[in-house]
Amino acid sequence: MIMGLTGGIASGKSTVSAMLIQKGARLVDADVIAKGVMLPGHPVLAAVAGHFGQGILLPDGTLNRAALGEIVFSDPAALQKLNSLTHPAIRREIKEQMYALEEEDPQRLIIVDIPLLYESKLDNLFDKVLAVYVPREVQLARLMERNGLNNEQAAARLDAQMDIEEKRSRADYIIDNSGGPAETEQQVAVLWDRLGLL
Ligand code: ADP
Repeated sequence: MIMGLTGGIASGKSTVSAMLIQKGARLVDADVIAKGVMLPGHPVLAAVAGHFGQGILLPDGTLNRAALGEIVFSDPAALQKLNSLTHPAIRREIKEQMYALEEEDPQRLIIVDIPLLYESKLDNLFDKVLAVYVPREVQLARLMERNGLNNEQAAARLDAQMDIEEKRSRADYIIDNSGGPAETEQQVAVLWDRLGLL
Protein backbone atom coordinates (compact mmCIF):
# COMPACT_ATOMS: atom_id res chain seq x y z
CA MET A 1 0.00 0.00 0.00
CA ILE A 2 1.21 3.48 -0.87
CA MET A 3 0.28 6.19 1.61
CA GLY A 4 0.84 9.92 1.33
CA LEU A 5 2.12 11.55 4.52
CA THR A 6 1.50 15.21 5.13
CA GLY A 7 0.80 17.78 7.81
CA GLY A 8 1.80 21.36 8.50
CA ILE A 9 5.31 22.73 8.83
CA ALA A 10 6.73 21.46 12.17
CA SER A 11 3.64 19.36 12.89
CA GLY A 12 5.84 16.25 13.20
CA LYS A 13 6.00 14.61 9.74
CA SER A 14 9.68 13.67 10.12
CA THR A 15 9.04 12.38 13.63
CA VAL A 16 6.15 10.17 12.49
CA SER A 17 7.86 8.97 9.31
CA ALA A 18 10.89 7.90 11.41
CA MET A 19 8.53 5.87 13.64
CA LEU A 20 6.90 4.21 10.61
CA ILE A 21 10.28 3.42 9.05
CA GLN A 22 11.32 1.89 12.36
CA LYS A 23 8.33 -0.43 12.03
CA GLY A 24 9.31 -1.45 8.50
CA ALA A 25 7.77 1.13 6.15
CA ARG A 26 9.77 2.39 3.17
CA LEU A 27 10.07 6.13 2.55
CA VAL A 28 9.93 8.38 -0.48
CA ASP A 29 10.88 11.93 0.54
CA ALA A 30 9.52 14.68 -1.71
CA ASP A 31 11.84 17.31 -0.20
CA VAL A 32 14.88 15.27 -1.21
CA ILE A 33 13.46 14.86 -4.72
CA ALA A 34 12.65 18.59 -4.95
CA LYS A 35 16.24 19.46 -4.01
CA GLY A 36 17.55 16.85 -6.49
CA VAL A 37 15.97 18.49 -9.53
CA MET A 38 17.78 21.72 -8.63
CA LEU A 39 21.25 20.16 -8.61
CA PRO A 40 23.81 21.07 -11.28
CA GLY A 41 23.41 18.96 -14.40
CA HIS A 42 19.67 18.38 -13.91
CA PRO A 43 17.58 19.57 -16.88
CA VAL A 44 15.09 21.24 -14.53
CA LEU A 45 17.77 23.53 -13.10
CA ALA A 46 18.90 24.32 -16.64
CA ALA A 47 15.32 25.22 -17.60
CA VAL A 48 14.92 27.43 -14.51
CA ALA A 49 18.19 29.25 -15.28
CA GLY A 50 17.09 29.53 -18.92
CA HIS A 51 13.92 31.31 -17.83
CA PHE A 52 15.05 33.41 -14.86
CA GLY A 53 18.63 34.08 -16.02
CA GLN A 54 22.08 32.87 -15.05
CA GLY A 55 21.91 35.20 -12.02
CA ILE A 56 20.07 32.46 -10.14
CA LEU A 57 23.22 30.33 -10.30
CA LEU A 58 26.34 30.65 -8.19
CA PRO A 59 29.72 30.72 -9.98
CA ASP A 60 30.12 26.96 -9.38
CA GLY A 61 26.83 26.24 -11.18
CA THR A 62 24.78 25.40 -8.08
CA LEU A 63 21.48 27.11 -7.35
CA ASN A 64 21.62 30.50 -5.66
CA ARG A 65 18.55 29.95 -3.49
CA ALA A 66 18.57 33.48 -2.13
CA ALA A 67 18.60 35.00 -5.64
CA LEU A 68 15.77 32.77 -6.88
CA GLY A 69 13.82 33.35 -3.66
CA GLU A 70 14.19 37.10 -4.16
CA ILE A 71 12.58 36.82 -7.62
CA VAL A 72 9.64 34.58 -6.74
CA PHE A 73 8.95 35.70 -3.17
CA SER A 74 7.01 38.84 -4.06
CA ASP A 75 5.80 37.85 -7.53
CA PRO A 76 3.04 35.23 -7.70
CA ALA A 77 3.32 34.91 -11.50
CA ALA A 78 7.05 34.17 -11.22
CA LEU A 79 6.37 31.60 -8.51
CA GLN A 80 3.76 29.98 -10.70
CA LYS A 81 6.23 29.84 -13.57
CA LEU A 82 8.87 28.27 -11.31
CA ASN A 83 6.36 25.68 -10.17
CA SER A 84 5.40 24.87 -13.75
CA LEU A 85 9.07 24.23 -14.52
CA THR A 86 9.74 22.07 -11.45
CA HIS A 87 6.53 20.29 -10.42
CA PRO A 88 6.08 17.90 -13.38
CA ALA A 89 9.60 16.50 -12.91
CA ILE A 90 9.16 16.22 -9.14
CA ARG A 91 5.83 14.47 -9.59
CA ARG A 92 7.35 12.07 -12.15
CA GLU A 93 10.28 11.23 -9.87
CA ILE A 94 7.98 10.65 -6.87
CA LYS A 95 5.92 8.22 -8.94
CA GLU A 96 8.98 6.41 -10.26
CA GLN A 97 10.41 5.94 -6.78
CA MET A 98 7.18 4.80 -5.16
CA TYR A 99 6.26 2.34 -7.89
CA ALA A 100 9.80 0.92 -7.88
CA LEU A 101 9.53 0.31 -4.12
CA GLU A 102 6.08 -1.22 -4.53
CA GLU A 103 7.35 -3.60 -7.17
CA GLU A 104 10.33 -4.53 -5.02
CA ASP A 105 8.16 -5.37 -2.06
CA PRO A 106 4.38 -5.34 -2.69
CA GLN A 107 3.48 -6.24 0.91
CA ARG A 108 5.37 -3.34 2.40
CA LEU A 109 3.84 -0.02 3.47
CA ILE A 110 5.36 2.77 1.38
CA ILE A 111 5.05 6.26 2.79
CA VAL A 112 5.54 9.32 0.63
CA ASP A 113 6.35 12.38 2.71
CA ILE A 114 5.06 15.49 0.93
CA PRO A 115 4.72 18.59 3.11
CA LEU A 116 2.55 20.37 0.53
CA LEU A 117 0.59 17.31 -0.65
CA TYR A 118 -2.84 18.98 -0.64
CA GLU A 119 -1.56 22.39 -1.78
CA SER A 120 0.09 20.68 -4.78
CA LYS A 121 -3.04 18.57 -5.44
CA LEU A 122 -1.11 15.31 -5.21
CA ASP A 123 -3.63 13.43 -3.06
CA ASN A 124 -4.95 11.55 -6.11
CA LEU A 125 -1.61 9.69 -6.35
CA PHE A 126 -2.27 7.73 -3.16
CA ASP A 127 -4.43 4.93 -1.85
CA LYS A 128 -4.69 6.76 1.46
CA VAL A 129 -3.38 9.95 3.05
CA LEU A 130 -2.12 10.26 6.63
CA ALA A 131 -1.96 13.72 8.21
CA VAL A 132 0.23 14.50 11.21
CA TYR A 133 -1.78 17.02 13.19
CA VAL A 134 -1.10 19.46 16.01
CA PRO A 135 -3.23 22.50 16.82
CA ARG A 136 -1.93 25.78 15.40
CA GLU A 137 -0.56 27.08 18.75
CA VAL A 138 1.56 23.94 19.19
CA GLN A 139 2.70 24.11 15.58
CA LEU A 140 3.70 27.75 16.04
CA ALA A 141 5.60 27.07 19.27
CA ARG A 142 7.51 24.09 17.79
CA LEU A 143 8.35 25.98 14.62
CA MET A 144 9.68 28.97 16.61
CA GLU A 145 11.77 26.64 18.75
CA ARG A 146 13.13 24.45 15.94
CA ASN A 147 13.92 27.24 13.47
CA GLY A 148 14.78 30.02 15.93
CA LEU A 149 11.99 32.27 14.60
CA ASN A 150 9.97 34.94 16.35
CA ASN A 151 6.19 34.75 16.54
CA GLU A 152 5.61 36.91 13.49
CA GLN A 153 8.08 35.02 11.26
CA ALA A 154 6.66 31.66 12.28
CA ALA A 155 3.06 32.85 11.75
CA ALA A 156 3.97 34.04 8.23
CA ARG A 157 5.20 30.55 7.37
CA LEU A 158 2.06 28.94 8.71
CA ASP A 159 -0.11 31.39 6.80
CA ALA A 160 1.63 30.47 3.54
CA GLN A 161 0.26 26.91 3.85
CA MET A 162 -3.22 25.41 3.87
CA ASP A 163 -4.71 25.54 7.35
CA ILE A 164 -3.82 22.42 9.32
CA GLU A 165 -7.48 21.93 10.36
CA GLU A 166 -8.40 21.54 6.70
CA LYS A 167 -5.65 18.96 6.20
CA ARG A 168 -6.96 17.11 9.22
CA SER A 169 -10.48 17.07 7.83
CA ARG A 170 -9.35 15.81 4.41
CA ALA A 171 -6.99 13.01 5.49
CA ASP A 172 -7.98 9.33 5.74
CA TYR A 173 -5.87 8.79 8.87
CA ILE A 174 -4.69 11.23 11.51
CA ILE A 175 -1.87 11.03 14.01
CA ASP A 176 -2.30 13.69 16.69
CA ASN A 177 1.24 14.70 17.64
CA SER A 178 0.31 17.30 20.25
CA GLY A 179 1.21 15.06 23.20
CA GLY A 180 4.63 13.66 23.99
CA PRO A 181 6.58 11.29 21.73
CA ALA A 182 5.28 8.24 23.64
CA GLU A 183 1.67 9.17 22.89
CA THR A 184 2.51 9.61 19.22
CA GLU A 185 4.34 6.28 19.17
CA GLN A 186 1.25 4.63 20.63
CA GLN A 187 -0.98 6.02 17.85
CA VAL A 188 1.55 4.91 15.23
CA ALA A 189 1.43 1.40 16.70
CA VAL A 190 -2.40 1.36 16.51
CA LEU A 191 -2.33 2.63 12.93
CA TRP A 192 0.30 0.06 11.99
CA ASP A 193 -1.92 -2.76 13.26
CA ARG A 194 -4.95 -1.30 11.52
CA LEU A 195 -3.11 -1.06 8.20
CA GLY A 196 -2.01 -4.66 8.58
CA LEU A 197 -5.69 -5.63 8.25
CA LEU A 198 -6.22 -3.84 4.93
P1 ADP B 1 7.98 18.37 10.36
O1 ADP B 1 8.79 17.24 9.76
O2 ADP B 1 6.51 18.20 10.20
O3 ADP B 1 8.44 19.74 9.93
P2 ADP B 1 9.32 17.61 12.87
O4 ADP B 1 9.09 16.15 12.96
O5 ADP B 1 10.66 18.11 12.44
O6 ADP B 1 8.17 18.30 11.96
O7 ADP B 1 8.93 18.24 14.28
C1 ADP B 1 8.99 19.66 14.48
C2 ADP B 1 9.71 19.97 15.79
O8 ADP B 1 8.90 19.54 16.89
C3 ADP B 1 11.05 19.27 15.93
O9 ADP B 1 11.94 20.14 16.59
C4 ADP B 1 10.73 18.05 16.79
O10 ADP B 1 11.83 17.64 17.55
C5 ADP B 1 9.59 18.56 17.68
N1 ADP B 1 8.61 17.52 18.00
C6 ADP B 1 8.05 16.64 17.15
N2 ADP B 1 7.17 15.85 17.77
C7 ADP B 1 7.16 16.23 19.07
C8 ADP B 1 6.44 15.80 20.24
N3 ADP B 1 5.52 14.82 20.19
N4 ADP B 1 6.70 16.44 21.41
C9 ADP B 1 7.59 17.45 21.45
N5 ADP B 1 8.30 17.91 20.41
C10 ADP B 1 8.10 17.32 19.22
